[in-house]
Amino acid sequence: MTVGAYQVRDPRTGEIERALRPPTSAELGDLVARLRAAQPRWTALTPERRATALLTWREEIDAARDELVAALTADTGRLTESVMEVDAVSGMLERWAAQAPALLAPPPPRQATIPGIEIRGDGVPYPLVGVISPWNFPLLLGLIDAIPALAAGCAVLIKPSEVTPRFIAPLMTTVARVPELAEVVAMVEGDGATGAAIVNLVDAVAFTGSVPTGRTVAAAAATAFIPAFLELGGKDPAIVLAGADLDRASSSILWGATTNAGQSCLSIERVYVEDSAYDEFLRMLVEKAERLRPAYPEPGDGQIGPVIDLAQAVVIERHLADALEKGAVVRCGGQVERLGGGRWCRPTVLTDVDHDMLVMTEETFGPIVPVMRVRDADHAVELANDSAYGLSAAVFAADTATAMAAADRLRVGAVSVNDSALTAFVHEGEKNSFNASGLGGSRMGPASLSRFLRRRSYLINETTRPDPWWH
Ligand code: NAD
Repeated sequence: MTVGAYQVRDPRTGEIERALRPPTSAELGDLVARLRAAQPRWTALTPERRATALLTWREEIDAARDELVAALTADTGRLTESVMEVDAVSGMLERWAAQAPALLAPPPPRQATIPGIEIRGDGVPYPLVGVISPWNFPLLLGLIDAIPALAAGCAVLIKPSEVTPRFIAPLMTTVARVPELAEVVAMVEGDGATGAAIVNLVDAVAFTGSVPTGRTVAAAAATAFIPAFLELGGKDPAIVLAGADLDRASSSILWGATTNAGQSCLSIERVYVEDSAYDEFLRMLVEKAERLRPAYPEPGDGQIGPVIDLAQAVVIERHLADALEKGAVVRCGGQVERLGGGRWCRPTVLTDVDHDMLVMTEETFGPIVPVMRVRDADHAVELANDSAYGLSAAVFAADTATAMAAADRLRVGAVSVNDSALTAFVHEGEKNSFNASGLGGSRMGPASLSRFLRRRSYLINETTRPDPWWH
């Protein structure tokens, strides 16, 4: 690892603030040893005691809300979503504290089909889980897997993105105030080199990030012979069918496409509208998109934050240029601007798009909403499924039955019906990623916790059985 190789940039001003401070190999090794030494004490606590520690942590996070919001705003340049992240993590702690004890209770003993044999079971947590997370929701995605892993009895070593390291210090202050937890939670700065080192030091890895890095992590995890839970990119479609409430659909899709300036895995990145609804939907969408403003000059102004990572601005520009060259028409927005040294992109509605364009096939990760006219529901489903990704989708129709008939045919892990991007808030429905959007157990719902346990059965024979060889 090269100390200080990565330069931390302010997304609002473009200024370089400082060099990243990753641990040395020796420091990382010591940290891992400390976490491993403490984990047996943590896992020996009852699930209820661990839940109580998580609730105490929640109180500390709530008390440090202002510091955390300020640090996340410095990391990402946006304010509204920073507030949302802190509140979401507080809610996650409350939910897992409430649900984990029942989920961790051993199943009742049962008789095997072979007479006289009783089966009992329990779960054995992976001692140390590595969490590697991206820059788009630094706090939320740093903790979304860490919290259920902790509830399950694991220790966690978290490495957020090098792009957004400022929230680590205030967050770790909250952890330090919960002594039992402080022994089993560590968060380090670092770039890909630190991430790669962590994969070789842990017993399971929960990775959130891009498809190319996910593939690298999967290969490294296979070599290390540990499970990898991969939550990767998306190109979520929204389908709007005839008879849908277009006011609702246009507002919801615009929010799903532009919140966090489109920098969400579950952003709506392409829209298919049935012919008879197309003109009115487009009119409403453009009218609403034009009302959104950059959150500039102050983070509390406007709605759309900056492009967080400079490299992403280049991707957005490339996708826009490709679309325009191939005949797309800009209905509003349409370019990456420089404001105060940062990069900003206004909500951009594109029409006359098709699947030969990058903007319809590759993850853009910006507030770009390409809209395509389709003949009917079959056509919409066919195009929605024409993707390398399969994270989630949205369907709007005149009634739930019609929407469900389309939703049922989508090859994605979650479908918001008469709404969009609901998986941002509703974490209780189990879902697997389809295609390149991920691999491994569901991050949502009860299965999220069981990913961090190995199931063990005890097969108990209390009968006096004859000698199995000579009876
Ligand atoms: P990225 O893949 O560039 O980086 C993600 C993390 O991996 C970072 O912490 C990085 O330092 C680390 N990393 C890089 N190389 C590594 C290596 N060889 N070994 C181990 N770790 C390594 O992703 P990003 O640009 O930070 O985030 C944006 C991507 O994340 C988008 O594709 C987005 O869709 C995806 N994402 C997915 C979800 C989801 O839940 N499916 C959620 C949010 C973001």
